[in-house]
Amino acid sequence: MAHKFVDNYRERGARKKLAEKLKDRGIQDKNVLGAIAKVPRHYFFDETFWLQAYKDIAFPIGDGQTISQPYTVAYQTELLHIKKGDKVLEVGTGSGYQTCILIELGADVYTIERQENLYNRTKLVLPHMGYQAHFFCGDGSKGILDHAPYDKILVTAGAPFVPEILLKQLKIGGILVIPVGDEQTQKMLTVIRVSETEYEKFELDTFRFVPLVGDQAW
Ligand code: SAM
Repeated sequence: MAHKFVDNYRERGARKKLAEKLKDRGIQDKNVLGAIAKVPRHYFFDETFWLQAYKDIAFPIGDGQTISQPYTVAYQTELLHIKKGDKVLEVGTGSGYQTCILIELGADVYTIERQENLYNRTKLVLPHMGYQAHFFCGDGSKGILDHAPYDKILVTAGAPFVPEILLKQLKIGGILVIPVGDEQTQKMLTVIRVSETEYEKFELDTFRFVPLVGDQAW
C-alpha cells in the first residue's frame, strides 16, 4: 500500500484549486478551507481514479458506500465550529476523509462505522497517513455512551429523525449536525444543546446522503 502515498505538486495544486472552488460555493471558514487544501484526498482512491479525487464529487469506496463530496464535508464541518481539543463523535466513518478534516482542525475524534470491512480498512489507512483517531465498529445511531459527553456530534448519513439518545450525549453548549429527511433527500439540521433540557434547532440546505441504518435510524 505504501506506493500509493505519493503527494507532489500536482496533487497539492489540485487541492488548492478545490479549496478555492469551495470558497466560491460559499464555504467561508478559513480553517476548514485550509484543511481541505491539506488532506490528501487521492489517498482514498484507487490509483486508476486519482483524477477524480479533487473534483467536487462523491465517489464509490466499495461496499455500496461513498466518500462524501468535498462541498458536503466542508459544509458540515463549518457548521460544527470546531475548536482545538473538541471531543467529536463522528457517526459514519466511511473512508475516513471527513475524520482527517476534523483532526486537521484539532479535534479529538471518536468515529463509528457499522460496516466491518470499512471500519477495518479505515482503521489501518488513517494512522498510516499520520491521522490518529478512536475507531469503533457498530451502530452509531445510538452514539457511543461509554465516551460521552461530546462537544460536537456529526452524522454523515441520512437519518429519518434526530435520535434523542444522540442529543443526550452532547455537552451543554454542544452542537449536533445531522441530515434528516426521507430516503431521497434530507435537510441539514444543526441542534445546539442550550441547557440540560433545552435544544435549539436550525434547518438548512437540502442534501442527499446514504441512509443511516440502525436502532435509532432506518
Ligand atoms: N464521511 C465519510 C467520508 O468522508 O468518507 C462518508 C460517510 S458515508 C456518506 C456514510 C457512512 O455511514 C457509510 O460508511 C455507512 O456505512 C455509515 N453508516 C450508516 N449507518 C450507520 C450507523 N448506524 N452507524 C455507523 N455508521 C453508519
